[in-house]
Formats: sequence, C-alpha cells, structure tokens
Amino acid sequence: MVTYSLTPDKVILNSNIITMDANNPSAQAVAVNDGKFVAVGSNEDIKSLVGPKTLVTDLMGKTMLPGFIDSHTHVLSSGTRHVTEVDCDLRSLSDIKKALSSKASNTPEADWVIGFKFDDTKTSEARFLNRQDLDQVSRSHPIMVAHQAGHVYFFNSKGLEMAMFFDDSPNEQGGVLGRDTLTGSLNGAVYGRAIDRVLREVLPKPSSEDRRSGLKLICQMFAEAGITSVHDAMVSSDDLGIYQEFIERGELPIRAYLLMHRDHFNSLRDGGVRTGFGGDRLRIGGVKMVADGAISTRTAYLSEPYVGTEGERGLLIMDPEETNERVLEMHKAGFQVCIHANGDSAIEMVLSAYEEAQKAFPRTDPRHRIEHCSLVNAEILQRMKDIGCLAVPFGSYVYYHGEKMRFYGEQRLERMFAHRSFIDAGINSSGAADYPCSPLAPLIGIQSCVTREDNSGKVWGRSQAISVTEALKVYTINGAYASFEEDIKGSIEVGKLADIVILAADPNNVDPHEIKDIPVEMTIVGGEITYEL
Ligand SMILES: [Zn+2]
Repeated sequence: MVTYSLTPDKVILNSNIITMDANNPSAQAVAVNDGKFVAVGSNEDIKSLVGPKTLVTDLMGKTMLPGFIDSHTHVLSSGTRHVTEVDCDLRSLSDIKKALSSKASNTPEADWVIGFKFDDTKTSEARFLNRQDLDQVSRSHPIMVAHQAGHVYFFNSKGLEMAMFFDDSPNEQGGVLGRDTLTGSLNGAVYGRAIDRVLREVLPKPSSEDRRSGLKLICQMFAEAGITSVHDAMVSSDDLGIYQEFIERGELPIRAYLLMHRDHFNSLRDGGVRTGFGGDRLRIGGVKMVADGAISTRTAYLSEPYVGTEGERGLLIMDPEETNERVLEMHKAGFQVCIHANGDSAIEMVLSAYEEAQKAFPRTDPRHRIEHCSLVNAEILQRMKDIGCLAVPFGSYVYYHGEKMRFYGEQRLERMFAHRSFIDAGINSSGAADYPCSPLAPLIGIQSCVTREDNSGKVWGRSQAISVTEALKVYTINGAYASFEEDIKGSIEVGKLADIVILAADPNNVDPHEIKDIPVEMTIVGGEITYEL
C-alpha cells in the first residue's frame, strides 16, 4: 500500500528490488523525492504517483539494491596516493623497479620517490624488496615503497639515511627495523610504528591540490563499484579540510563517515566534538588506533605461531597499558573506538580495554569496533556479544589473498574472516575492503564470503561461508549500523536516503563464482546518479 500524496521527482520502475528491509524484502518500483525514498512497492502502485514533472526510469528487470557500504577503507589517503605515488601492484620485482625508475627520471634529485600497493606474494620472486633492489633504481633519490597491507615499508639507502635509520639505530616502541641476518646491517624493511615518525616528519606532505584530485578520483572508483557510503579508516585534519571543501561546494559524491586518526582525539574532544557530529553526507565517526600488524604481511599478533616459522607470532603495536588508557579516555569522551586488531591475542587485549572502559563508565550502546577482527574463538565471540562490540572483517581476503592463507593453515582458517560465526553469535559484522589492501569492489567481497574460495579455486575455512543474502546484508544494512545510521540508510525503505546500486544480474541467481563479474549498471546517492555504465 502506497500512501504518498505528493508528486515525486523520480520513479524507478520494473526492477527486481532486494530491499534488505525485513518487513518488505522485495519490490518492483520506488519513488524518490528530495533525495529520499517516498514510496516502495509494485509497478502499479508507483506508476500511480507519476506526475508531469516526474522523471521515470524503466530498469527492464535489472536488480536494485541499497547502495553498498564499505565500513573500513582508505578513501582520501589512497586517492591521493593514486595521484602522487607509483602503483606497485605489479607481477615482478623488475616491473616494479622499472615503474619506480620511470618516476625517478621525472623527479628532481633528492626528492622522494614513493610507491604503494607492493605485495611480495603477488610477484614472481615472492619476496620482500630490499635496499639493494631499490638502490638499483636510484642512489640519489630517497625511495620508499609501502606494502599493500601497510605496516611494512621498504627503503633504499638514501631513503634510510633521510629517514635517520642507521645500522646502530635501536628498534622503536612498537616497531622493528629489518636486518640482514648475517651482517646485522639494515636491509631496508621497516615494520610497525617505526614508520610513524617518518610519515609525520620526513616525507613530503601531499599538496591540497593533490588531495583534491585524489578525492575526486577515488570517489569515482567507489561509484563504479556501486559504493554509496564509506567509512574512511584513517583521517587527518588536512583530509578533513578537503572533505569540507567538497561538502561546501556540493561536490562530495559519496557519504563519508570519518574514523579520525588518534593524534586528533584531544583536539576533537576539547572542541566538544564526539562521534556522530556532522550530517548524512559527512560525519565524524570513531577514533582509529592500531593494535597489531597485518594479515597479508604475516604480522597479525597471534596466540599460536605462523605455520612454517620458528615461533613467530606477529607484532603487537600497542601494549595493554596504553590500550586501556587511550580507550578509557575516548570512551568517556563519547567516541566510538575503532581499533585495528587482526590476531586473536591482539583482539583479546582490545576487548579487555573495551570491557574495562564500559565497567568504569557505563555508556548506552557505544558500538566500539574491532577493525578486521580476523582470527576469533568462542570466548572472543561471547565477549564481543556481551558488550555489543562490532566486527569489521575483511570481505575479499580469502579470494584475493588466498596465496597467503598457508601461513595461517587450514584449521586456523576455520576461525578467520569469521562471517558465519559473527552472524551466528549475533554480532554485527560489516563489509570492508581496506582498500588499497584488497580490491575495493564489494562484489568481490560478497563472492568471497559466499564461496570461501581463493582465485585458484582452493577453499579456505568452509565453515565460515555465508549465504548471498547474508553477504548482501553485511555490505548494506550492517554497514549502516556500524556508523549508527541504520535508521537513515542501508535498506530501501520509505523515509531512508535514496542510495541505490543497480546490477545487471541478481547475485542470488548467478553462479556464485561469477558474482564478482556482475556489471554495476548504475550508482545513485541521494537520488543523484554518481555512476552509469
Ligand atoms: Zn585499514
């Protein structure tokens, strides 16, 4: 029954609509006015609302879903990197060196040449870069290449010198300098927090112009993938300024929920800001911190060693004392706390801090999050459920990073990227690519969650597979919940924001191995088209 009485500006007819609204799971048509759904129903119902000024679109049976939400991805920073850095997502070290050399030849001597998206396991040599490799590119330019997962960076000799890393430098707290096992001299790799000072004080800051171009570019990339909302997983004050410019000019084509870098917490709190400040296009979200290393660089902090190593358990980046202190002050100040924790030991440490904070200063529904939350067990799930903690697990890692799963082993994979367990335990889990750590398209994540197969067809952790409908929920309404916005988006319902993705086929009706190949036909944010095939 449609009760809307005004004339809508737009109607979309003849669609296979998967609403993600439990009370009204499917429909054929929607009416949109002023950026919101004003009616959802059958073709006949919606046609009756069409007036002389209504724009009518006939989808000819295509599938409509609420726009995808990526709850943990690097938006402005990775867009900017596409503009200023060398994309090292290449299949051999020699191709990577060539790409860096070509950038160096256009860069004044003594200026940095920076690369990103390097992934050792995707190169034919299957090893980390070292300072000798990068010295072959240039000895006069400082060079730094970031691993796709972040958390590990590779320098040439000039870069190490400019970053003030010397053979006799000690490891910094929460960080490690890679060394040649024979000579003990630096091998060019820098792990964990040892990089923070370099990023803050040594590397050139991107210009505002680069950030503007980067934001524009990355928003286009998200729109092409059907994404209408993002949670930007690490935002600096400079980034916030650029976001605001886009908002002021009405040019932000995506909704962004900002997880602010921990360095900005004091200023935000002192300014009276807390989670939720802003509007439906741009909002201050949680405060982001990092507790351990990364899955794809094998630095997640695990209770049991990595397969094939002599007791290596990964890297803890914050200690329990620091975690407890920081969490308590952020919790008290009314922030959602969003801590990156991959390994079970890191997750347990973070959960203790959340539990303590909640005990000392009870808050209703703080929705603290564990970013990635990769390896769980029954006790972790119970503790998360008890305090209403949210999981933001990787969606596409089984598919995209399958070649790294052997470091974790078959058995452990039954408890990793634990989408099934989160659903069964009643824990909200939302979709995340953590771009640039994995491809940004949600359809790849949805396929990976459903099939649990890597790109060579090997299944990892079959017991964690979920249904297509469950995976769609993860990437829509659950993402809205993770930003306290389930009342305004995440499903196609009257009164909610008209954020839509239109797919050429229904993910329920294709071979699950082909979900990732379904063309995104159109993306709509607040009733406005942001992408059209
Ligand atoms: Zn991240």
